[in-house]
Amino acid sequence: SQKLMAGKRGLIMGLANDKSIAWGIAKACANAGAELAFSYQGDALKKRVDPLAAELGSDIVLPCDVSDEGSVDALFAGLAERWDGLDFVVHAIGFSDKNELRGRYVDTSRDNFRMTMDISVFSFTSVVQRAEKMMKPGGSALTLTYYGAERVMPHYNVMGVAKAALEASVRYLAEDLGKDGIRVNAISAGPIKTLAASGIGDFRYIMKWNEYNSPLRRNVTIEDVGNSALYLLSDLGSGVTGEVLHVDAGYHVVGMKAVDAPDI
Ligand code: NAD
Repeated sequence: SQKLMAGKRGLIMGLANDKSIAWGIAKACANAGAELAFSYQGDALKKRVDPLAAELGSDIVLPCDVSDEGSVDALFAGLAERWDGLDFVVHAIGFSDKNELRGRYVDTSRDNFRMTMDISVFSFTSVVQRAEKMMKPGGSALTLTYYGAERVMPHYNVMGVAKAALEASVRYLAEDLGKDGIRVNAISAGPIKTLAASGIGDFRYIMKWNEYNSPLRRNVTIEDVGNSALYLLSDLGSGVTGEVLHVDAGYHVVGMKAVDAPDI
């Protein structure tokens, strides 16, 4: 039988190492038969990303710093040299000054607010602008968000405000690209121990809280996120756009501490 993603080509942005959510998504897509390209942020990450890409049969590994429009243009120009079309794009990128991922939101600086919004919010729109030009009907774009967009979470601060804006941009992009048959969605992932997450204050406590209080009584893995991404990126998700899908062991439906939750 034909594999789900056979004949589909996808760009994965935000792979830093084998703990990255982007890695869980890339593995799920490659296992389903997709052909992949990768972008990495800077020279330091190239030596990590090259072997991971090779593991999934990809030799298209291109630099891109999303804070620089010229760099995003260069990525898509490089991609167009190798591929004449694009079926999906995954944006698994976020950044804020870790000194502001602790303490009070009210103390956020203007400079870090601007930078966080630029790298964590606008970059998705910037990527979709270019991806749209390479996509046909059936194309799919995906970004990653967190429950801190909807509810106040300890230490998430300016990143929560940025994720709220990112989720709103998913809805506006879905409307704009829907007329061309291109879908735009987000996955709201539960806490996962990655490089980016290690910058968030008390992250171990947040992980424990989610494990003890989510309906599934566990944390999610990058494989859980990868499987749900496969649904949104493939034709299985053909009727779904503008959606924020929670892949969080059900944590977002809970209203209070579980009666069986141990003290942390
Ligand atoms: P990660 O550290 O593995 O990935 C973050 C990526 O962002 C890295 O590859 C980094 O190079 C990239 N990046 C940062 N600034 C960039 C820039 N200027 N240009 C290009 N790339 C840049 O961590 P992750 O947890 O896999 O993060 C992926 C996404 O998932 C982020 O948007 C994050 O907010 C989101 N998310 C993470 C969690 C979690 O608990 N880990 C939960 C929900 C959502």
